[in-house]
Amino acid sequence: MQEKMNISMVDLYNQYLKIKSEVDNEIEQVIRSSVFVKGGKVNEFEANLKQYLGVNHVITVGNGTDALQIAITALDLHQGDEVITTPFTFVSTLEVLALMKLKPVLCDIDEASFNISPELVAYSVSPRTRAIVPVHLYGQCADMECLHDISAPRGIYLIEDACQALGADYIYKNGQTAKAGTIGDIACNSFFPTKNLGAMGDGGAIFTNNDDLAKRMRSIANHGMSEKYVYQQVGVNSRLDAIQAAILDVKLKYLDQYIQARQTAAAFYDNHLKDIPEIKIPERVDYSTHTFHQYTIKVAEKRDELQAFLKSKGIPSMVYYPRPLHLQEAYKYLGYKTGDFPIAEKLSEQVLSLPMHTELDDAQLTWIVSAIREFFKK
Ligand SMILES: *Cc1c(COP(=O)(O)O)cnc(C)c1O
Repeated sequence: MQEKMNISMVDLYNQYLKIKSEVDNEIEQVIRSSVFVKGGKVNEFEANLKQYLGVNHVITVGNGTDALQIAITALDLHQGDEVITTPFTFVSTLEVLALMKLKPVLCDIDEASFNISPELVAYSVSPRTRAIVPVHLYGQCADMECLHDISAPRGIYLIEDACQALGADYIYKNGQTAKAGTIGDIACNSFFPTKNLGAMGDGGAIFTNNDDLAKRMRSIANHGMSEKYVYQQVGVNSRLDAIQAAILDVKLKYLDQYIQARQTAAAFYDNHLKDIPEIKIPERVDYSTHTFHQYTIKVAEKRDELQAFLKSKGIPSMVYYPRPLHLQEAYKYLGYKTGDFPIAEKLSEQVLSLPMHTELDDAQLTWIVSAIREFFKK
């Protein structure tokens, strides 16, 4: 009997090997052109991503955090304006609000989907609320239609943090679908290497159908410039470089295939784990497909023991996120305390994300589920 099998949380190298000649060729072309910043490759990628998403504007930027900051800057909010978001997310979502001296108002999440609860958002809206920033956590959309019903009549902006859900389809009640990141007023995306569409370095993008916001965000990302050496507003320098754009343009062609590979691995996990009463497999909502940026189970007891046991078998796993943001030192000043967001707090002690990437094969998946079953003596 095998003792250990070395499995990766993500496997970007083997993914690269399958498209190596295409990627290498594109990188070489950028080097030959020596247009490393802005220029043709970046424009081509923006156009192709625009078409994939079915959105009017794609503005590439330096990373997902910049995307959020530029989007929020474009809304022209004032110090102390309230922005509603979730405590159960990667720090960027909250960080940019704090940096911009806005007032983050946190709302607990829905236990099934891990995403912000529209009921609680409705409850937290005030006359000072200017924006809502839902996060499509782990690859599945937040309940955008409900959130839209809250935001639209009040003139509140809806800004999607779509960093984990590129390629997901949102399904409206009338059956129509739209890509994640094309539903709110603005959406932010990250091309961090491990994301659904990952660069070989940093990268990010902003999506919108609003021409005015697009113009403003493009300018903010470029020093607030309106025409050469004319500065209309205070901006930043945030751009995707041409080598990353070239790599992403190749990988975009395979994005749907990559998502399918993730969904196939997720179905394998489901089938082999669903009968174990001590764990809960990821629940699916009816208003979104799931791209499985992460495959996250809930382990009510002994989560950390399971993680250690898996590690002993060569199986990595991750806790996203071990401590909700309202309980972090940096955000204590917001005045929240333990008990304010009981679902986020409870789930932070239960969640465990299993290896999930495009290169998982049956032998690896079998090894992983067997180890989990062994731990629970199934
Ligand atoms: C990855 C991520 C970000 C930040 O993206 P970077 O490119 O690393 O700056 C923001 N929000 C969420 C939910 C993310 O997963």
